[in-house]
Amino acid sequence: MKKILFPLLIIFLLPLACNIYTQEQTPVYVTTSPHNMVPSFDLSLHKQAMQPCFADDVDKNIKKGITIYNIKINIIPSSLATEPKFIGSMHVHYTNTESVMLNQLFFRLFPNTSAFGGTMNISSTYINNQLINPELVSGNSTLIIPLSTPLAPNDHVQIYMTYEATIPTTMQNGYGRYTYYNDVLSLPNFYPIIPVFDDKGWHVETSIPYGDVTYTDIALYDVTITAPKNMIIVTSGDIIAKSTRHEVQTVRAVTGPMRDFYITMSEKFQSVSQEIDGIKINSYYPAEQTEQGKFALTVAVESFRTFNQLFIPYPYHEFDVVAVPTKAGGMEYPGIIVVAKRYYYQTEKDFFEFVTVHETIHQWWYGLVGNDQINYPWLDEALTQYTCIQYYENRYGDGQRKRQIDRWFNNSYQILLNTNSDRPVAGMVSDFSGADEYGAVVYGKGPLFFEAVRTQLGDEAYFDSMRTYAECYRYSIADPQDLLDIFTEVGGQNVEDLYQEWILGSQ
Ligand SMILES: [Zn+2]
Repeated sequence: MKKILFPLLIIFLLPLACNIYTQEQTPVYVTTSPHNMVPSFDLSLHKQAMQPCFADDVDKNIKKGITIYNIKINIIPSSLATEPKFIGSMHVHYTNTESVMLNQLFFRLFPNTSAFGGTMNISSTYINNQLINPELVSGNSTLIIPLSTPLAPNDHVQIYMTYEATIPTTMQNGYGRYTYYNDVLSLPNFYPIIPVFDDKGWHVETSIPYGDVTYTDIALYDVTITAPKNMIIVTSGDIIAKSTRHEVQTVRAVTGPMRDFYITMSEKFQSVSQEIDGIKINSYYPAEQTEQGKFALTVAVESFRTFNQLFIPYPYHEFDVVAVPTKAGGMEYPGIIVVAKRYYYQTEKDFFEFVTVHETIHQWWYGLVGNDQINYPWLDEALTQYTCIQYYENRYGDGQRKRQIDRWFNNSYQILLNTNSDRPVAGMVSDFSGADEYGAVVYGKGPLFFEAVRTQLGDEAYFDSMRTYAECYRYSIADPQDLLDIFTEVGGQNVEDLYQEWILGSQ
């Protein structure tokens, strides 16, 4: 994503009059010392990261009170050769969208978890311009900010933090998702992030090395990155400005309403792009692996061709597929997916294709329709796996449904049965004995629930249900009962028996 829509000069000359919320919102201007002055927000920039017909989604979500993150990080060039580190600062505009008073705010510091293997130290924290002392718990992976005045529903608060972080240079931690390895810097969750608050309280479950770790609400992101000038920087959202001074570059990226923000960079990335349905798809691949880079691009484009029609259109302006070292097959982030770099050096492409489709589908199941990835991981993972089948049916024709279901799901499930290893698909990520059992049960057996539902409802009712599920819960969060209710109300049949058999039960 190297598109530059505005020269920096124009950004700086934007009149203050533009920098307002919608009329229903109170503009936020806090005059204080320059170092932590609350930045002005220009929603028109965030709308540029949307397709024009979905630009209003920015206003609609602002009216709902979504969080706004304004983040600056500086990758220290001299540190990359030894112990990579960066320093960051962050303004957060947080509105209490709950129905109860909040006495505390929570932030997750994922670099401090064993799944990430780095460090993140908060240097200072301000609430509404007051310096405060937050509490660190859970091995420094959760920051608790006490609010001297409880935050009432619909009231907002400004948080300002400065921090510094280190990045491991190995693949030993979890999937190796947060690392500088093999010329690629991968930075998921490089900022303190607010977890979901619901009727169970703040979601700060311990992260384990496998599975997904985040459970977050939609937010707007405005992120400025300073890094060595030769790095090709790829992020969630759109890069709208770029400048170079001496040996460093500064880029600014903004998003529409998204669930997270991811950064990766490498001096070795090459790229190829194609447009589909008004969306710019970019494939970033290792130097010289052009054929594989084009292959990933085509798979992503064909995925969008299928799922924009089948569910709801992807509302954002760009999407990136990036070859990044990871022990996982791939990893999903809003507006950008990682596909394991090793696939770009193999002649066998079947799993490369499947992973690229799977991670792309997460833009709908996880990205747009959020779910609790820690307590109900099957809800997005098993559905995403099953949805892959539709890509094969659409692209390669009849006969693919059974062939692909046998290949990716039935074979795994049969092994579970043959080894007396079957267990319920339902459960927290940490309920499974390890990555192998988690993979076989959630990714192998779990999709068979959706095949059983589709068989019972018929294609028309099944896909009507899935389209409604996407429409009802886009930018929001669904739980398993929400999906079951959709099957009953839209699909016309209660599928509780199938849910008991395939998700809650075991043989
Ligand atoms: Zn997945």
